[in-house]
Amino acid sequence: MVVSPAVGYHRKDVCLRILSLFYQPQNIEEALRIRGEMGVDVTPLGGGTDIIVALNRSAAGAKHYLDLTHVEGYSDVRRDNGDWRLSAGASFSQLGRLPVRALAEASMTVGGPAIRNRGTIAGNLGTASPAGDGCVALMAIDATVELGHASRGKRVIPIDEYFTGFRQTALLEDELITSVSIPADWQTTWYKIGKRGSINISLVCCAVGLSPKGDVRIAFGCVAPTVIRAKSAEAIIEKGGFSEEAVEAAAQAAMKEVAPIDDHRASAAYKQAMCGVLARRLLGEMSKSQNVKTSKE
Ligand SMILES: Cc1cc2nc3c(=O)[nH]c(=O)nc-3n(C[C@H](O)[C@H](O)[C@H](O)COP(=O)(O)OP(=O)(O)OC[C@H]3O[C@@H](n4cnc5c(N)ncnc54)[C@H](O)[C@@H]3O)c2cc1C
Repeated sequence: MVVSPAVGYHRKDVCLRILSLFYQPQNIEEALRIRGEMGVDVTPLGGGTDIIVALNRSAAGAKHYLDLTHVEGYSDVRRDNGDWRLSAGASFSQLGRLPVRALAEASMTVGGPAIRNRGTIAGNLGTASPAGDGCVALMAIDATVELGHASRGKRVIPIDEYFTGFRQTALLEDELITSVSIPADWQTTWYKIGKRGSINISLVCCAVGLSPKGDVRIAFGCVAPTVIRAKSAEAIIEKGGFSEEAVEAAAQAAMKEVAPIDDHRASAAYKQAMCGVLARRLLGEMSKSQNVKTSKE
């Protein structure tokens, strides 16, 4: 472990010097120990692409930082039987090369190349923004999130239970996100509506997943306090298959399930309408796929 004073500045009328301790553990045991002992007094730091922006905007930074980027294996991505196991520090550039369409495409729209090289999947989950593109893709493939603690060990929770409110999660203040697992055999598709072709925060984004057993997942970003699933729309497709009628009914149901708000990016009415458009488009696209099951048996 390396402990060194870190110096942060924020812009106000005067520059204020903030002295923090900056921990750089080399392995996960040490990282979990520091987090376990210090809890909220230490902020986990991945690529810093959210934290540094927040630091730049706010009057004070975190008390201390726990830089995870030197932890051995922190960015590993590997096959684990039927799953992909993404270590917490897997970057969007790495995820963009995975043969999991929704996650790969979502990852390749995050920021520009520099942000994709630094930004991590754990950071996306840690920030838990309703606009988190990685979170939407993970929600559509029943990902599981592994949370580690120094003495209690690890607990694995379904992504559906991870988001508990606006930027609130099931992560406890003495835990770290250690990995994310996703099934390797689902069909997925994804689309993001934004204002530009790149460095583009979502206005609305949608991911659809289909398991080999016929489970359907329809996830949206930017249309509720958290990333959400449109469960009644999913049930319509699971029951009725990908017929034109079922897709239309699911698109209508999805529009009723979301709860967008007016903000500086778009009106609530626009976002709600786009949920119908995206559900229709992605479910229609999936129905044309050769291996798609017509309904859950
Ligand atoms: C120019 C720009 C464009 C962007 N575009 C997009 C975009 O299109 N789509 C999108 O979704 N995001 C976008 N982002 C946001 C950001 O890149 C992502 O949210 C990214 O995933 C954050 O990852 P990070 O490793 O940099 O997180 P950090 O900034 O290091 O951390 C973010 C949060 O996660 C916590 N955290 C990090 N690692 C762990 C861990 N292992 N355990 C527990 N908590 C942890 C931190 O404490 C912090 O609260 C953009 C950011 C910038 C600056």
